[in-house]
Amino acid sequence: MSLPRIQNLVDGRLIEPASRKYLDNIEPATGQVYSQVPDSDERDVSLAVEAAERAFPIWSHTPAAKRSRILLRLADLIERDLEPLARAESIDTGKPIVLARSLDIPRAAANFRFFATGILHFASESHATDDIAINYTLRCPRGVCGLISPWNLPLYLLTWKIAPAISCGNTAVAKPSEVTPMTAYLLSQLCIEAGLPAGVLNIVHGRGATAGDALVRHPRVTTLSFTGGTVTGRNIASIAGPMFKKVALELGGKNPNIVFADADMDSAILESVRAAFSNQGQVCLSGSRIYVEHPAYDAFLGRLVDAAKRIRIGDPLEESAEHGALVSRAQFDKVNSYLQLARELGGKIHCGGGPPANLPVRCNAGYFIAPTVITDVDVQCRIQQEEIFGPVVTITPFDNEREVIGYANSTDYGLSATVWTRDVGRAHRVAAALQCGTVWVNCWLLRDLRVPFGGMKQSGVGREGGWEALRFFTEPKNVCIRIPSSS
Ligand code: NDP
Repeated sequence: MSLPRIQNLVDGRLIEPASRKYLDNIEPATGQVYSQVPDSDERDVSLAVEAAERAFPIWSHTPAAKRSRILLRLADLIERDLEPLARAESIDTGKPIVLARSLDIPRAAANFRFFATGILHFASESHATDDIAINYTLRCPRGVCGLISPWNLPLYLLTWKIAPAISCGNTAVAKPSEVTPMTAYLLSQLCIEAGLPAGVLNIVHGRGATAGDALVRHPRVTTLSFTGGTVTGRNIASIAGPMFKKVALELGGKNPNIVFADADMDSAILESVRAAFSNQGQVCLSGSRIYVEHPAYDAFLGRLVDAAKRIRIGDPLEESAEHGALVSRAQFDKVNSYLQLARELGGKIHCGGGPPANLPVRCNAGYFIAPTVITDVDVQCRIQQEEIFGPVVTITPFDNEREVIGYANSTDYGLSATVWTRDVGRAHRVAAALQCGTVWVNCWLLRDLRVPFGGMKQSGVGREGGWEALRFFTEPKNVCIRIPSSS
């Protein structure tokens, strides 16, 4: 039986890669190949960039209201196809279908709606220089943008780039992760149905080292927005820097979740479980390092472990599953290597620690790891310093505010943090002292699409979200007009 074949979207058409070669796409819950993805190379990227260049003059001068209408239609189509998209997302990633249906797909539609309406209200600045001159700033689309996204939230993060890039008049070439290409392919079909003009968005599938690299190096790609690992981000920055491309990098995280003894413990435990294990811990914003103030430590640990053991692990396509498979064999091996390291370091594993028992037969060869809670590992060890990107959380006690701020800021990352306390003064003090792009107080992953989003330190450069994204994808041009003095 021949497997379904994904195709590239180039110049408004779904086409084969130049090489005619395909890569296997594996369903992580079963370990079986279920479709094939184009193994595109620089020839496909060149064709896509040429199509995007041809589309740019007309699209960049299309009235904002018309661009907005097309993108709103696309959002409607995503909502219409919620069920097939959620199913594809679940099969591709191994995440529970209930999560894909309630979060990933609605968020993808919301991204298009947000920027489709945002461009109708986006304004640029004007500065009067006394009575001598007026400066006004034009915000011009930049040309062809290269958009590279990861596998953990494939449709959500891809549309988080596509929507701002094309809504403000750029054209784009997107390269989704080769590990999870299916929803991007379905999006290609919806773009055609929505009447998005040919070449405005092109989607080239393939490996990062070939298709992704060709996109980064292409001399006529002016702007790069990348979400992925810190090592890949560094590599992209080293290529794009000397070419003077405008680059935004959203990279990894090792996010602290700080629980003070005065916190509302019911909420703190409920949300800490979600922060640690949602999407099998494969969220850049996961709260993977929990610090608990001493008086509350024992009770918190006991309750968190109980809650982690109660998470229903199962076939992601089953409605009852709360916890599915890791995305790939490589990710499964990586997470297991950290579990092995924890054991070697003398860490105590309270639950999980490897594949769960009693999986359905269909999932016997899948990449499952049970929610895992580790204590008794040093705050400076690799388990607590490196991004594991799996369902693994450490819990460490602390004595006071100063100590925990030191722990929290001790990694190379600076994406997000969560603070649990009823003391408002402390919440403000700690939030200000944490070195990261987002601090949640008494909540986790409460998103408002208007706020700037991004990381400090090795978690990235630049900000996405709201006007920040529209500013990133446009070039400010100042026009200074002298006001003639009266004769
Ligand atoms: P990678 O860095 O491996 O890959 C990200 C994307 O880059 C993929 O499309 C990949 O293609 C591509 N790529 C890989 N190598 C290159 C290259 N040399 N040149 C150009 N493109 C390349 O990340 P993962 O996919 O493993 O994603 C997980 C990472 O993403 C985690 O570190 C996570 O923290 C981070 N992330 C950050 C977020 C944020 O907002 N800060 C949000 C979500 C995730 P392919 O997969 O086909 O190789």
